[in-house]
Amino acid sequence: MSQFKNIETALIHGGSTTDETTGAVNVPIYLTSTFKQDGLGQRRQGWEYARTGNPTRAALESLIAELDGGLAGFAFASGLAAIGTVLHLFSTGDRILLSSNVYGGTFRLLDQVASHVGITYSIVDTSNVEAFEQSIPADARGIIVESPANPLLTVTDLRAISAAAHRKGLTVIVDNTFMTPYLQQPLKLGADIVVYSATKYLAGHSDLVAGLAVVSTEEQRERIAFLQNSIGAVLPPFDSYLLIRGIKTLGVRMDRHVDNASRIALWLQSHPAVKHVYYPGLKSDPGYETNRSQARNGGVMLSFELTDNRDIRRFFSSLRLVTLAESLGGVESLVCHPASMTHASIPREIRLKVGITDGLIRLSTGIENVDDIIADLDNAINLSKK
Ligand SMILES: *Cc1c(COP(=O)(O)O)cnc(C)c1O
Repeated sequence: MSQFKNIETALIHGGSTTDETTGAVNVPIYLTSTFKQDGLGQRRQGWEYARTGNPTRAALESLIAELDGGLAGFAFASGLAAIGTVLHLFSTGDRILLSSNVYGGTFRLLDQVASHVGITYSIVDTSNVEAFEQSIPADARGIIVESPANPLLTVTDLRAISAAAHRKGLTVIVDNTFMTPYLQQPLKLGADIVVYSATKYLAGHSDLVAGLAVVSTEEQRERIAFLQNSIGAVLPPFDSYLLIRGIKTLGVRMDRHVDNASRIALWLQSHPAVKHVYYPGLKSDPGYETNRSQARNGGVMLSFELTDNRDIRRFFSSLRLVTLAESLGGVESLVCHPASMTHASIPREIRLKVGITDGLIRLSTGIENVDDIIADLDNAINLSKK
């Protein structure tokens, strides 16, 4: 539980973000690999070796735990390092369920890495909870869900899916990268573990790669601490500092991100050259009501398809302000082509089956002036006419 009533305050003052020794209002960057011991077995305040624990990283870890209402947080070298470490909670013979449209790298981790140690996976449709529960295989031990999911922004009822998964004894892992604890707190909706690519909104400035995990039980805390230290994919102190700094402004950034995204979604929806807009913040979106019941708003990410008389290559090359790049969640607007970029590691047949068409465009709306973003998109759409 957070010591603060409102998350806007916890973002700035949560965790152990002041320095006990000097009173510095920012956590120092502890560039040290090891810590002096006063005698055999006498470690000062428990610090021993910086893979096991570093004060800057520990400040970040206590902050994310507080923001998500979890028992403990862990910081990793990337989002995939966080997910990969959490997957070590499972063993040979276990099956992990993946909600359709999970991040391509998560799919690849299950498909080409975990499979080598005998952990299998199935892709499941989490939109119909009853059908989902009926179809859970007997060897399933865990489920990884994203809501809204990447890149079609499909919404899963996290409360209902967690309850159904728990009835069958599954561990529920939610990848909350797209929403952050500012917009959605999965542990409070029944999930067991939350993971983040903190590279995205949490850091917020496209200047680092980081991952976080938050757990809810003592058993998971002990096991993930052991795995984090044993595998060693930890976040360095400088990046931990930058991430703490990014999180302080998460609230104001997200407010502007979401305002811009909502306006752009409405504008795209009324554009004659736009076939479809995927954004759970639109009242017409099938996920609107469910998303509203579990999140503060529809978030920032949106995807859209242009009508068939548009050339998508010309659209991308005509953009001047919005940058064509992988990733998302930075202050600058980024656009990408999931079929050839973020989701290229998923075979085309599977991609098409889940609705990731070759014409799909994903937009990570930045915090620039919204009229400037719209003008750039409008110009590129106009120039993309075949
Ligand atoms: C980017 C991303 C990841 C992977 O995180 P990295 O920090 O790039 O390793 C995982 N899940 C989602 C939803 C992402 O967007």
